[in-house]
Amino acid sequence: MYGGIEAGGTKFNCIVGRGPGDVVDQTRIPTSTPAVTLAEVILFFRPFCEAGKVRAIGVGSFGPCDLRRRSPTYGFITSTPKPGWQNTDLVGAIRSALSVDVTLDTDVNAAALGEHTWGATVGTLTSLYLTIGTGIGGGLIVDGKPVHGLQHPEMGHIRIPHDRGSDPFPGSCPYHADCFEGLAGGPAIQERFGRGAEELADEDPFWDLEADYIAAAVSTYVLVGSPERIVLGGGIMQREFLMPRIREQVVRLLAGYLRHAALTDQIDAYIVAPGLGSMSGVLGAIALARASAPEA
Ligand code: ZN
Repeated sequence: MYGGIEAGGTKFNCIVGRGPGDVVDQTRIPTSTPAVTLAEVILFFRPFCEAGKVRAIGVGSFGPCDLRRRSPTYGFITSTPKPGWQNTDLVGAIRSALSVDVTLDTDVNAAALGEHTWGATVGTLTSLYLTIGTGIGGGLIVDGKPVHGLQHPEMGHIRIPHDRGSDPFPGSCPYHADCFEGLAGGPAIQERFGRGAEELADEDPFWDLEADYIAAAVSTYVLVGSPERIVLGGGIMQREFLMPRIREQVVRLLAGYLRHAALTDQIDAYIVAPGLGSMSGVLGAIALARASAPEA
């Protein structure tokens, strides 16, 4: 079996198993300080590792993180704005305590891999998973593998058109103000309205603008990465009425330039909800572990 950890800003979801329908144990641990949270994570996995039942652990983490295998700070969460978590040796702490192989990727790369392995993008070679919630981020799979590079993609921080006439909000990103996340992420909604996204009524006209921002970003990703399918997950996408407008706006923005049925009459099967529901990330972490230590 494998261990999977979805390391998030509010909780660490941990599972032991082989995939969907084969999860033998799971727990949720609040994200407090690295020392307290990682001690609890290690306690959860220890009996499985000591019994030799877990071959490897995959971690999909919030970031930014260092994914360069040869770097001295490989496996570290690096410059996160999350207090107390800067320069945390996530991989090293878990590996040394449990004596198993630990593989790290971003939370969204893990979720993209989970969807590619068992979910909505099975059978594709190139796909995109986008989360739209408190944070906004994307994981891109190319030839069946998550894309890394200089660091890793940070798709939530691209610039998108911002019409200050219809939306005077200056943006909430501490680095870029009105980047995609700064306009459309959870904190941007909180700052605009003085209340959380979950408190906005379905009828609020803001949701059209939110869908338009998401569509602007998605149409850019279609042009840059040419994914065969796009999965939209995260808390904000629980508002299912956003999906039809996003699809419609993506088709409109691409303006018939890319001649493919996926981008016209098959758009409903092109931009889709996660096949694994809220489990994409943590199951993706299992897929990461499996890819690093395949069973003989
Ligand atoms: Zn930004």
